[in-house]
Amino acid sequence: MNRVYNFSAGPAVLPEEVLREAAEEMLDYKGSGMSVMEMSHRSKVYDNIIKTAEADLRELMNIPDNYKVLFLQGGASQQFAMIPMNLMKNKKAAYIVTGQWAKKAYQEAQLYGEAVKVASSEDETFSYIPDCSDLDIPEDADYVYICENNTIYGTKYKELPNTKGHTLVADVSSCFLSEPVDVTKYGIIYGGVQKNIGPAGVVIVIIREDLITEDTLPGTPTMLKYKTHADAESLYNTPPAYGIYVCGKVFQWIKKMGGLEVMKQRNEEKAKILYDFLDQSKLFQGTVKKEDRSLMNVPFVTGDKELDAKFVKEAEAAGFVNLKGHRSVGGMRASIYNAMPKEGVEKLAAFMKKFEEEN
Ligand SMILES: *Cc1c(COP(=O)(O)O)cnc(C)c1O
Repeated sequence: MNRVYNFSAGPAVLPEEVLREAAEEMLDYKGSGMSVMEMSHRSKVYDNIIKTAEADLRELMNIPDNYKVLFLQGGASQQFAMIPMNLMKNKKAAYIVTGQWAKKAYQEAQLYGEAVKVASSEDETFSYIPDCSDLDIPEDADYVYICENNTIYGTKYKELPNTKGHTLVADVSSCFLSEPVDVTKYGIIYGGVQKNIGPAGVVIVIIREDLITEDTLPGTPTMLKYKTHADAESLYNTPPAYGIYVCGKVFQWIKKMGGLEVMKQRNEEKAKILYDFLDQSKLFQGTVKKEDRSLMNVPFVTGDKELDAKFVKEAEAAGFVNLKGHRSVGGMRASIYNAMPKEGVEKLAAFMKKFEEEN
């Protein structure tokens, strides 16, 4: 077996320990005589898996009792529609456009009401987070929407926007559980788990109870109402059962590691290795404003497309894979999620140094 250092933006690296445990339990989950993939989602065994996963997530994020945790499907992208369908009572919402995912959410919301772009960083290829301290947010906006960590561009809000009393909705797909958060500052925190938590196919939505109502936009399908899933405790229909099981294992792994404070510290250490290297390198440069740098996604370039391609190719041959940047930014991107060991980042920086010396 030869495990590589996988810098993919998503689906992404998972803790090896979690994969080994899942492998061990593959044929016979805890004496049930079957795989988690094969069991009824209504069984007692499975009920324990999903309940434990939720309890552990609540503990890790310190989620207050007046928030529901929903395990859904449809990817983060389905939330782009589900959010306006459920929240746009006044048919108006404010969007801060800091990258492609925020832009897609903004465009989708236009299908359901008036989505107002209150700030954007598109003028400089989304390389920074705009000043959100005093935005012109419409009085009757139902919510303010952000993408908190911009996976493609490598920026992250270091301070949440001043929503002026409006409900904050955040896509945290690529920074979920990377550091502690104050859940009470948000109406909805959601993310696809395939970046930092588990296998593709699960979306976690943490939603304040007062936002879960019958009063959705006309025509909203049953499956796209938060209330449907909240009332049924994520078991209205068959949930992405195996994915939730793996997420649960990752929650336990994070707890064992020491929780979100420890995750943050580890992630800061890892990111610092790369950013410090980039800041002194004569060949490689980071592509975003320093103050807004993400701890999770680190894009960088040499400034020469052919050299970028050569780097990606040689890195791959050396066991550092999925470093090619998103097609809209070019260059490289190292995604260094929770499960990426520090050693992987140290070795990547050393490889970059060697490449710099040779080119
Ligand atoms: C990957 C990603 C998405 C899209 O996720 P899907 O589950 O593929 O729909 C949305 N937002 C962010 C921030 C992402 O990183």
